Amino acid sequence: MHAVGIVAAAGSGLRLGAELPKALVPLGGRPLVCWAVDALRAGGVDDVVVAVPDPQQAAFTAVLPADVQVVVGGDTRTASVRAALAAASEQVDAVLVHDAARPLTPPDVVARVLAALAAGARAVVPVLPVVDTTVVVDDDGVVAADVPRPPLRRVQTPQGFDRTTLVRAYAQAPGPAVEFTDDASVVRAAGIPVHTVAGDERAAKITVAHDLRMAELQLPGERNR
Ligand code: C5P
Repeated sequence: MHAVGIVAAAGSGLRLGAELPKALVPLGGRPLVCWAVDALRAGGVDDVVVAVPDPQQAAFTAVLPADVQVVVGGDTRTASVRAALAAASEQVDAVLVHDAARPLTPPDVVARVLAALAAGARAVVPVLPVVDTTVVVDDDGVVAADVPRPPLRRVQTPQGFDRTTLVRAYAQAPGPAVEFTDDASVVRAAGIPVHTVAGDERAAKITVAHDLRMAELQLPGERNR
């Protein structure tokens, strides 16, 4: 099975409070986007396309390996993935879409997603259980309802798809008025079942400065792996 990886790296990262786009922020001296590309390759992805913010195109090209394809992303994550998907080779069976903001994703997670696709799934996401009590809060900040926890899952990336399935789902997706936060939602909106495999806490998304500090603490273990 030939797989292409798409790395969504065109976000601004305002919540991280950095001057740089989040994907260029260093972790252990290397930009997050480089870690994300390595994770995909170490897990078995063949080629990689990265969606980047237009103004920083040259900065991304300068830090990424020469055989990584760089495309300009869009105003939303969905638009960025759409642009990368259009640029990716049609000669592949599978597409794995990954957040640049998940730099320490273990290769095993990537390999599990690829294995599920090879076994016949058309769409697959890595998931983790929800450990906190989860509630619905009303406009006044008062708890309005408890949510039964056992069936809840947190969804990570990389999310894997049969290429034709993902291309068709994006072609059918409603316009920018409907914002999707991941690719599995685009595929589910097209009526395709989305399967799950085990995610990993180390694939956590870096959103705020504390997340970056936590990732830095994981680095010695990563290097000794
Ligand atoms: O903002 P958030 O952390 O949810 O973004 C998830 C991923 O989507 C990040 O890696 C970010 O760079 C990417 N993204 C993108 N294009 C956008 C917005 C976000 O590629 N317009």
